This record gives sequence, C-alpha cells and structure tokens, in this order.
Amino acid sequence: MMSQGQGAVNCATQGVIEREGQAGKIPNAAKNLVIIGGGFAGVALAKRLEKTMPKEWEIYLLSKTNFITYNPLLPEVIGASILPGHVQAPVRLMLKRTRIRMVTVDSIDYQAGVIHYHNDQQGSLKFDQLVHASGVQANMDMLPGLREHTLPLKTVGDALHIRNQVIERLEQATIHPDDARRRELTSFVILGGGFSGVETAGELEDFLRSAQRYYKNVDIEDCTVTLIHGTDRILPELPAKLSAKTLDNFTKRNIKVMLNERAERLEKEQVILKSGKVIHGATIICTIGTTPNAFIKTTLLPSERGKLVTRPDMSIDAFSGLWAMGDCALVPNRQSAGPCPPTAQFANQQAKVLAKNIVANINHKPTIEFSYKPLGMLASIGHNKAVAQIFGMQFSGIIGFMMWRGVYLLKVPTVARKVRLFLEWNWAMFFPPDIAHLGFKRSSDD
Ligand SMILES: Cc1cc2nc3c(=O)[nH]c(=O)nc-3n(C[C@H](O)[C@H](O)[C@H](O)COP(=O)(O)OP(=O)(O)OC[C@H]3O[C@@H](n4cnc5c(N)ncnc54)[C@H](O)[C@@H]3O)c2cc1C
Repeated sequence: MMSQGQGAVNCATQGVIEREGQAGKIPNAAKNLVIIGGGFAGVALAKRLEKTMPKEWEIYLLSKTNFITYNPLLPEVIGASILPGHVQAPVRLMLKRTRIRMVTVDSIDYQAGVIHYHNDQQGSLKFDQLVHASGVQANMDMLPGLREHTLPLKTVGDALHIRNQVIERLEQATIHPDDARRRELTSFVILGGGFSGVETAGELEDFLRSAQRYYKNVDIEDCTVTLIHGTDRILPELPAKLSAKTLDNFTKRNIKVMLNERAERLEKEQVILKSGKVIHGATIICTIGTTPNAFIKTTLLPSERGKLVTRPDMSIDAFSGLWAMGDCALVPNRQSAGPCPPTAQFANQQAKVLAKNIVANINHKPTIEFSYKPLGMLASIGHNKAVAQIFGMQFSGIIGFMMWRGVYLLKVPTVARKVRLFLEWNWAMFFPPDIAHLGFKRSSDD
C-alpha cells in the first residue's frame, strides 16, 4: 500500500481557462482529470474511469489522433493481409463520457496546473489530475543515416509506406533489364528481431511469394529477406525453444537471419554493421529504437532513458495528482522486480490499476502497487504459422497461428473492427493478395 503526495507541490488550480468553443459549458465546480495520449494506455484508462470517476469530475483525453491503432497487426498491413481500416478504431466510438480533443500538447505548467496545446489554434486546459500516456515515437536519429535510408514501422502511415515501397520495388524489378540490379531491387533488410521485426519478415516473405505470379520477370529465388538482430536469438522475450523453431522456419523459407550483428550506420541501400560487414538492401525497414515525444523531453520530471519514472502505484514523485503509464513510463512491476515492458498487454493492465489509484487518491485513500504476471506472448511468423507461450505452455505451427488469430480477434477494439477483421482474414484465404500500389497523390500534385 502506498500513500501518495506527501510534501509534493499540489498542481490543482481553480476555474476553467480552457478556450474552446465546442467543449460545452463546464460547471464551475468541475475538476478536470486530463489524459495525454489516446493510445492503448490512455483509452483503456478513460474507459475505466468513465465508470468510477465521481460525477463532479470531467475526464479529458487529449491526443494527436482521434483513433487508436492496433499496432500488433501493423506487419499484416505491410503484407497486404489486411487494410489500414482494420487496425484503427475511432476513439469517439469507444468512449462516451470523456471529452475527446484531437490536439497536440506542446507544454505543461505543472505549478499552475495548465496544459498548453494546439490544433489550428493555441489552447489551454487546466487540470487537477494529469496522466501522461503519450507513448513513444520511432527514434530516427539513433544511428547515422537511419532517417535518410530506412523506413520505420511505428504508425499505420509507416506500414502503408512500406507496403507501397515493396510493391514499387517489384514493379521496378519486373522491367529492369539488368539481372544484378533486379536482384538488388528485390532485396529487403529488416533491422531488429523482436516481435515486429520477426512478424514483418514472415509477412513480407509470404507477400513476395504470393505476389510473384503477377510479376513473371521476378524470380522468387532472387528475392531476399534479411533479418538483422543484435543478440544471439530472435524473439528474446519468448522461450529459447520457440526462438529456435522460428529460426528453423525462416531458414527453410530462405529468410536470412543474422544474429549478434548490430548496425553501425546506414548508407543508400546499405547497412554497415559494427562487425564491418556490409548488407545490401534496396528497402531497409527499421523496427528498432524509440524515443519519447517531444514535450516529454522538455519536462523536468524524473526520467530514465527518456521515460518518466513512476512510483510502484504509477504516480510521479514531483507533484500530487500526476501519473504516467504505458510506453512513455518506467513503471515498476512487483511481479518481476523490474520495470514493465512496453507492450499493449501491460498498458491495459496498468489502466486497471491506475483507474483505482486515481479514485483512491482523490478520496484520500491509499493506492496500490502495480503487479502483473503476463498471461502469454504470441508472434505470427508467416505461412499461417505462429509461436506462442500461453499460461506457461508452448505452441507453434498452425495451432499457434489459430491461437494468435483468436487472441487478436478478441483484443482488437470495437465489435465493428472484429467483424471486419474476421471477414478480411477469411477473404484472404480464398483470393489473391492486394498488389495495388496505393497512390497518395492528390490531383493538385500533377
Ligand atoms: C509494429 C508494432 C508491433 C507491436 N506489437 C505488439 C504486440 O504484438 N503485443 C503487444 O503487447 N504490444 C505490441 N506493440 C507495442 C504496443 O503497441 C505498445 O506497447 C502500446 O501501443 C503502448 O500504448 P501507449 O498508449 O503507451 O502508446 P501509444 O499506443 O503509442 O499511444 C500514444 C498516444 O499518444 C499520442 N500523443 C503523443 N504525443 C502527443 C502530444 N504531444 N499531444 C497529444 N497526444 C500525443 C499519440 O498520438 C498516441 O495516440 C507493438 C508496437 C509496434 C509499433
């Protein structure tokens, strides 16, 4: 049990200084709980607080986007197994009581208890309780040349961009007269052998194989997918046996896995490794490296490796009524005696505990520590196969894949998305892959 806020500066202020026409009339007595970030963490928390927060409190969700992205399925967008609409759900369909504001938070005055944000104009909102749930973004400055020469995978836009580039490369290769250049054009390199890197490699190989019949001049044997990973086994979060099974599966499918290799710098169509080796790839996909959002870096709150350090109850040791959760926070987990990993599963669990703690805090009751043992982890590896560890049991192959699909179907937000996803997955079993190069050009660009 923890008691929060002794000796801390109280960031609550009186009165509403919000300047927004559409917000409606806010009672003078209202207190504001503000959540920054409408991702997994922020939305799950708002959902819970809608049921438990006393009526005199207003709940605000400030987020750059008005939809939640179901990130675990982004590799499937690259492989054209599903469409972007299947992995995005509008937050307004998921929340009823919460006031949703699609804005970018620029700065926070913790002493005064005021958030400054913008959309097409500047605005401010006072807060009495504040939750940081703004996630992280791809760190494109982690290595020299990374920004210029790789494609990150963090957002739906990234996934669509990669999908387009893969199709573009096939189109270029199919008419290129030079054999060597054709092989270069169809060489794909992925940095990072964690969940997203492995799932991307599996999806990409599947896509290249099934799209090949439409690109007669491109020989699948000339297409290469190379996965570069910094430690001695891919999927290090899963048991060694499942990592080995994945490696074996990839080797049979001609996906080249390079272990214990780290990129040092990137050049045009080249990864230069610390070992001195040079790997060629006309498309280089980056699934490693994240950094906090810009405004978090400017706060003077306690942080480690860019993440906000919290107490075990997710409060921040600087001001009363200040909390952090999800990927942007370093939350201690009593179960593992270490910080929580940055996963959607943990973000959801943190939301359950934090919702209780916030209500306890405003009622001057003791809060509880976060403690959670994950139920399991799953990774799809392509070819209708997956590896999974659930309740300590290990699964692989088609059984693992059925479980993977079942779990994600249950977890993807909103019933409408579940139905669309289910239909799309079944559709893809009977019809050819979608190889349309999605043009994002507007008429005015011509
Ligand atoms: C490709 C990929 C695959 C993944 N696969 C898995 C998986 O298989 N299993 C799993 O458990 N996890 C997976 N994850 C991780 C999981 O998606 C994250 O842990 C989860 O999204 C974290 O939730 P969050 O709410 O903290 O952050 P996010 O979901 O990133 O949400 C952050 C929100 O904050 C908003 N925001 C940021 N800055 C501001 C600002 N200044 N003002 C206003 N709003 C702001 C953003 O727009 C966003 O809406 C994957 C992630 C990726 C990228």
